[in-house]
Amino acid sequence: MKLINNLAEQYVKLSLKIGQHAKYYVDAYYGPKEWRPTDEKTPLTDLKCHAEQLVKLAISLDKNDIAEQQERLDFLLLHLKSSVTYINQLLGFNITFAQECKSLYDAQPPKFDEQHFDKILTRLDKLIPGEGDLNQRFINYREDFIIPINKLDDVFSAAINEARRRTLQFIDIPDNENFTVELVNDQIWSAYNWYKGDSYSLIQLNTDFPIYIERVIDLAAHEGYPGHHIFNAQMEKHLVNANGWMEYSIYNLFSPTSLLAEGSANYGIEVAFPWQERIAFERDVLFPLAGIAPEKSELYYQIQIVLHQLSYVDNMVAQRYIDGVINESQAVQLLMKYALSSKERSKQRLAFYQHNRSYVITYNYGQDLVREYLATLVKNDSKNELWRVFSDLLAKPKTASMMQV
Ligand SMILES: [Zn+2]
Repeated sequence: MKLINNLAEQYVKLSLKIGQHAKYYVDAYYGPKEWRPTDEKTPLTDLKCHAEQLVKLAISLDKNDIAEQQERLDFLLLHLKSSVTYINQLLGFNITFAQECKSLYDAQPPKFDEQHFDKILTRLDKLIPGEGDLNQRFINYREDFIIPINKLDDVFSAAINEARRRTLQFIDIPDNENFTVELVNDQIWSAYNWYKGDSYSLIQLNTDFPIYIERVIDLAAHEGYPGHHIFNAQMEKHLVNANGWMEYSIYNLFSPTSLLAEGSANYGIEVAFPWQERIAFERDVLFPLAGIAPEKSELYYQIQIVLHQLSYVDNMVAQRYIDGVINESQAVQLLMKYALSSKERSKQRLAFYQHNRSYVITYNYGQDLVREYLATLVKNDSKNELWRVFSDLLAKPKTASMMQV
């Protein structure tokens, strides 16, 4: 126990030092303040040596001593290996998209290409009203579903309150849990959860681009309940506070944890809002609050169901761009054609790839992985049972390979 706790402490300290070289590497940290480095940056080559030593140490820990904590050690080892990869990348070593998925995120996502997405576009072509270019037609059609900026606060509050109410019926988190919502601009993402510790999150919504009505439940559940806010609060409560497992007091963005973080945040939308309940809540509560005619919802959601099947377009475009197969303008063209996003929104997405590279897989593949993994644990249609296994997973996180079934 002492040995693994010591290794955990060293992992946290190493991560904080890597964070001195890369601003967004450490996404959340709420461990001891005195573990934060106070001196100058440690050279990357020294950090690399140290990380490699920690990997060796993790491998050498006597299995008999830590038998009941084997899963904890496996998780830590995968994170240490991921740190080595990230330091190598900071040192300028180039790896392919697929290698990065494996060594940073412990994941091997499936690959889809145009042939696959063309079939989905054909279905959308039949559903989306109007004639001519599908991208422009979709953008025109969607205009009616934009939330006016002066109503955004009310609509988002209603969505997050409902997501919170639904989640807290099934997941027990500390009474002081809380969040603040801020509207921001000029970001490469559409929303972000900054977890600050002590069950508190700052949730930011980016208003650079219009926010469509169906995104509100996504964002409220993904960033808040039962998504990132709850995931972090669960880890803090069960692993850091109750067990003293300090490796969970830090969340490194480019690490295996992200697959579960984004995957559970996306899958959590379905858990809190099963599709029919979701449509009813949006149509009856959110549409009127946003001043959008509820009778327009039926076709809109038929389209949304098909549109969701395009989520892996992100991986196809990011992979080709990162691997140097296509250039910036080809990436934007592909996104406009296959993600049906506007030119400006496609450029924002490209900026996301440039900053975060293969991180895109954590959303779609992460979601599928969590869904499939939990399906093996839930044998009936019981809502209680689904919430139970879902919250267990948040309180006892697994990496992609640990969830593989
Ligand atoms: Zn997220």
